[in-house]
Amino acid sequence: MAKTPHGTFSEKLRVPEALTFDDVLLKPMESRVEPDEASTETRVSTNVTLQVPVLSAAMDTVTESGLAIAMARNGGLGVLHRNMTVEETAEEVERVKRADELIIRDVVTASPDQTVRDVDSMMERRGVSGAPVVADDGTVLGIISGTDIRPYLEVGDRDEVREAMTDEVITASEDVTARDALELMYEHKIERVPVVDDDGKLVGLVTMQGILQRREYDQAARDDEGRLRVGVAVGPFETDRATAADEAGADVVFIDCAHAHNRNVVDSARDIKSQVDADVVVGNIGTREAAEALVDFADGLKVGIGPGSICTTRVVSGAGMPQITAVSSVADVAVEHDVPVIADGGIRYSGDAIKAIAAGADAVMLGSYFAGTDEAPGRVITMNGKKYKQYRGMGSVGAMRSGGGDRYLKDEPEDEEYVPEGVEAATPYKGSLASELHQLVGGMQSGMGYVGAESIPAFKERSEFVRVSSAGQQESHAHDVVITDEAPNYSPGE
Ligand code: 5GP
Repeated sequence: MAKTPHGTFSEKLRVPEALTFDDVLLKPMESRVEPDEASTETRVSTNVTLQVPVLSAAMDTVTESGLAIAMARNGGLGVLHRNMTVEETAEEVERVKRADELIIRDVVTASPDQTVRDVDSMMERRGVSGAPVVADDGTVLGIISGTDIRPYLEVGDRDEVREAMTDEVITASEDVTARDALELMYEHKIERVPVVDDDGKLVGLVTMQGILQRREYDQAARDDEGRLRVGVAVGPFETDRATAADEAGADVVFIDCAHAHNRNVVDSARDIKSQVDADVVVGNIGTREAAEALVDFADGLKVGIGPGSICTTRVVSGAGMPQITAVSSVADVAVEHDVPVIADGGIRYSGDAIKAIAAGADAVMLGSYFAGTDEAPGRVITMNGKKYKQYRGMGSVGAMRSGGGDRYLKDEPEDEEYVPEGVEAATPYKGSLASELHQLVGGMQSGMGYVGAESIPAFKERSEFVRVSSAGQQESHAHDVVITDEAPNYSPGE
């Protein structure tokens, strides 16, 4: 009888079982842990530790600098999408890095002979609301802000900056503390203090907004210099984007590929790793064999072949791996090499997120969960009286058409030649990222409480699963009632 390498064709049908979120539940165990005392600190890559084990997906309807800043301030990590130019990627990284520093080092400056119009568009492009005005040799001459500019835009936008700027500048020296800066701001009724060296040359800037924000976010993900952390997605062959992101200060580069267990992708990822200082996380994968191909050089492995809410990979290609099995298969290999694992996609509830961690992940990545927040790109739309935001797969026709398709395709096809692996959709509008993340993490901590684990590593070790029948799954959801008030962390789904 003819044989395949795995036996006869009928033997091929003796298949292993693969499970996903709804197939399992965590077994409740004796506990002394109060949920709000459970620490969610975790490692997402070799050198990056977070207080909140959550990442936002690298999708053009989810993570740009706005959401990345909010994620890092609240303890997680945003991963910038790559549906933009390399220059834009570097600018986006800089925006996140600049968001919360005490002394901003890479100051956006104006020159005295620029026109007001010019400075206005520069400030908008660089995402700042004021800029020190410096001479060619770096000496501080004045400071210009949106408030100075506004009247000029109406009547004299070709006037030079030297006319619109405030020229009595209050400056501070490099050893300035947040307290000193606040006192200067209070005394002189100003919001920005340029930091200068002994010769009066600009070396940085302290802003009121920066000081207040730093104080507010005590769980924030920060690098060694106190700047917010940020991740960046790059195509598997995009060495230029990886090095530009690295130079701009990205903490983690994510090799963003639908199927990273591909020899060319593995070789290129290894090469990118050798060229950047940032950690390099590689994905997506879903099997032990893929993990083995990457684990000797990757700083983290990202798991998910087809679980995403907007993803149609499994029905289009017939390939995929249910997510709980995928995570546990990769984690078996990763744990031997002390490499963190990120579970990416398919997470609808906080319970799914903590199940992914029980299956061996160190952190989780979500797209649809965050796409409806204020900080995600795109505007709120109203349909049938309900508010939504747009959410689309990066392998959908729309995203591919606007440049994001190489995750799923290599060459640029004509419109009708696209074979999408994702859909374009809308997701309910949810309000602020902070409150969504609070619900997610609170639910995860609750899971840790049921298992009696006070930390993520302890939880990974201690937790056990039970298998759930479809009757059990039905019992898990709200049932036999009509829901009268929406809960902040639950909707029944379809
Ligand atoms: P979600 O949290 O919405 O369930 O899943 C988000 C994840 O889906 C992303 O992080 C990414 O890995 C994956 N993804 C994004 N766009 C697409 C797509 O068009 N097709 C597929 N197969 N996966 C996608």
